[in-house]
Amino acid sequence: MLRKRRLGRTGILVSELGFGGIPIQRISENRAVKLVTRSIDMGINFIDTARNYTDSEKKIGKAIKNRRDEVHICTKTHAHDPKGLRSDLETSISNLGVSTIDLYYLHGVNTYDDLKRAISPENLDFLKSMKDEDRIRFLGVSSHREEVMLKAIETEFFDAVMFPFNYIVTDAKRKIIPLCQKKNIGFVCMKPFAGGTLDNPRDTLRYVLRYPISTAIPGIALIRELEQNISALKQGEYVTDKEVEKLEAIGEDIGRRFCRGCGYCSPCLQGVEITRLMRIQSFIRRTGLKRREDRMLRAIKSLEGCIECKECEEKCPYNLPIGEMMNEQVEWLIGEFPHLETLEQIQRT
Ligand code: SF4
Ligand code: SF4
Repeated sequence: MLRKRRLGRTGILVSELGFGGIPIQRISENRAVKLVTRSIDMGINFIDTARNYTDSEKKIGKAIKNRRDEVHICTKTHAHDPKGLRSDLETSISNLGVSTIDLYYLHGVNTYDDLKRAISPENLDFLKSMKDEDRIRFLGVSSHREEVMLKAIETEFFDAVMFPFNYIVTDAKRKIIPLCQKKNIGFVCMKPFAGGTLDNPRDTLRYVLRYPISTAIPGIALIRELEQNISALKQGEYVTDKEVEKLEAIGEDIGRRFCRGCGYCSPCLQGVEITRLMRIQSFIRRTGLKRREDRMLRAIKSLEGCIECKECEEKCPYNLPIGEMMNEQVEWLIGEFPHLETLEQIQRT
């Protein structure tokens, strides 16, 4: 059975391996239900999804229908006002077939403005009323930006936070994880496999769980992946100091061409959808192309507006060769799905 850890001040005990609900968007409902059910059988009690992961909530809802008491359910919203929050929350509750969401995240709070809007007095009043009515048990926030996340934690409004952490993107261990510990706030590790860039569960999971986080939620689409993840943790110990050094050196190397999705490079004044283009492979591998085709076509098309001014590269704190990488990502996508090129040409005429 999986070990459990406390999710900060919520006091709830969560399995150190959670279920990330992004990739089930690309598999059939039948397979998704089997996968979630098997995950619960194997000891996972922390299930994560979001309002904008298309049908992920509905698939999870089907799987937990008779097992509600065995799991903690988390979902997320991008809404920024009480009307939008109410509508998203009601949809999530209905999709998941539950009366309460255990952890409700404000999703993708990546700028100070996002944070200001997210915690406006009207929103906080609304969220408090939802807690009073037991529609939400605990409140969380997810972000890709360290400074915004630190500020969000400092507000003490949130019971748990979700932030990327793996041996390529190690920023969380500097300030965020220690601050969460100090303030007794749960830390949920997003992207332990760096969005599919890392593939060895033994290294990746044993690395992140060595730190005082609450749980790691890799996204999975196959029972084989689930079993490999669980088996990596069954072997007991987390990584040693020596292994940390070795893995972080590997991570640093990969990091020279790895987009963290932090968005410092954006917006591009020419409308190029930089962060989407930079992460095409990782995005499509997790979600599949189905239902994302329009979005991808828009992104590819936006690249035509690039005037190679290099402003984005100057703003990227990781000095990534953005122009070169965006083109490589588009080439990869068209290589995998050649019909996209034809579609894009048709749309252009
Ligand atoms: S090089 Fe300039 S135009 Fe091209 S994506 Fe970067 S900021 Fe936009
Ligand atoms: S290109 Fe650089 S700045 Fe832009 S999202 Fe990726 S890592 Fe962040």
